[in-house]
Amino acid sequence: MARKLLLEHINVPGINTFEVYRSKGGYASVEKALKTLTPEEIVEEVKKSGLRGRGGAGFPTGMKWSFLAKPEGVPRYLVCNADESEPGTFKDRYLMTHIPHLLIEGMIVSSFALGAKTSYIYVRGEMMPQIRILERAIAEAKNAGFLGKNILGTGYDLELYVQPGGGAYICGEETALLESLEGKRGNPRIKPPFPAIAGLYGCPTVVNNVESIAAVVPIINEGAEEYAKIGIGRSTGTKLISAGGNLNKPGVYEIDLGLSCEEFLYSDEYCGGIANGKRLKAVVAGGSSVPILPANLFLKTANGEGRLMSYESLSDGGFVTGTMLGSGGFIAFDEDQCIVRNTWNFARFYHHESCGQCSPCREGTGWMEKVLHRLENGHGKQSDMDLLVDVSKKIEGNTICPLGDAAAWPVASAIRHFRDEFEWHVTHASEATVRNYGLAHYADPLPKPEPAA
Ligand code: SF4
Repeated sequence: MARKLLLEHINVPGINTFEVYRSKGGYASVEKALKTLTPEEIVEEVKKSGLRGRGGAGFPTGMKWSFLAKPEGVPRYLVCNADESEPGTFKDRYLMTHIPHLLIEGMIVSSFALGAKTSYIYVRGEMMPQIRILERAIAEAKNAGFLGKNILGTGYDLELYVQPGGGAYICGEETALLESLEGKRGNPRIKPPFPAIAGLYGCPTVVNNVESIAAVVPIINEGAEEYAKIGIGRSTGTKLISAGGNLNKPGVYEIDLGLSCEEFLYSDEYCGGIANGKRLKAVVAGGSSVPILPANLFLKTANGEGRLMSYESLSDGGFVTGTMLGSGGFIAFDEDQCIVRNTWNFARFYHHESCGQCSPCREGTGWMEKVLHRLENGHGKQSDMDLLVDVSKKIEGNTICPLGDAAAWPVASAIRHFRDEFEWHVTHASEATVRNYGLAHYADPLPKPEPAA
């Protein structure tokens, strides 16, 4: 069984309390960082670890930290992005619910490294239980001298606040998040300037995902070199995957990056195979914003190599035959799932969540939703597939923020890989028939491993 860096103590009774968390070695990284390391040394450690942002983009965290401007007399901020609204993704919520002190510990070390004296955890507004859990954990940490003035007698001061989010998917985009945190409507900003130069209240700001910040704790405790030994290539360390859809064992898993996709899907340690003895038809590997892959291309690259759960392997083949690790929101579709219906569902979501600032996204997401709706309901035309591809191309790369791309990629990839299913919806234009559609030849081409005796 692979070693857990983040979830090792997740099942310890009372681990959500300061007392139990501390008894398991919690907050050791704060003592080490504040008493024995300089902020620059911590940034170097995070760089050396190879940690990449766990929120979706996969940008190297240490490099992002090193971009932070440091003008004299200007405050710097660390903001934790805990908005987690990506469909299929629920690993940050899991972590905050069960082991909130891990995030707070990571926030203290990361804030110290960045020179921030005020930091925020921006939590999706719907997650009120998690907001209360974090507020209680912050109060416990403060009582124990890990937050507030003169932490552990080192002279370092840090105030940490939890801010409920604005209730929109787009508030998870870092500049929209900052707007929302400033009390404004969560509209993405035009970049540059990037937040590292002009972020919260116009000051230098780093925005990091929950899991990225939590990963700083084992990096400091065990050292960057040990952390970087886990994983493969430029995908170092472990990754939380929230697995859902038609699986025998949906849930949150901590995997070593580089684990084979087949093992992740079929082994009893992880997803345990497809539910009800069905076959796999398709996979969304990294949240609804990434291209959908048919089963055969998820398990093997176009070159016939076994696909791995890593940034590089999942994107092997680009968007023609590959996808992205994204946020780790893994959704499995069995052979009975209708790709057209699911694609329409995604398009409906993005249309609803578009902030409306740019025309390609505001109008294009609406058109994609409408065309997919008519296809799904038996009123489609043979020209609709080309129309959808055309609209998706006009959105991609032509918008202020990545929501446009996120809306375009699932639609374009669904048509690329499942065009005959879309065409079938036109030729068999009865809604009742459409609902019962299935394509056996997209099912898992590999034999399902026999269950262990
Ligand atoms: Fe708003 Fe969409 Fe433009 Fe992003 S891409 S700024 S969500 S309209």
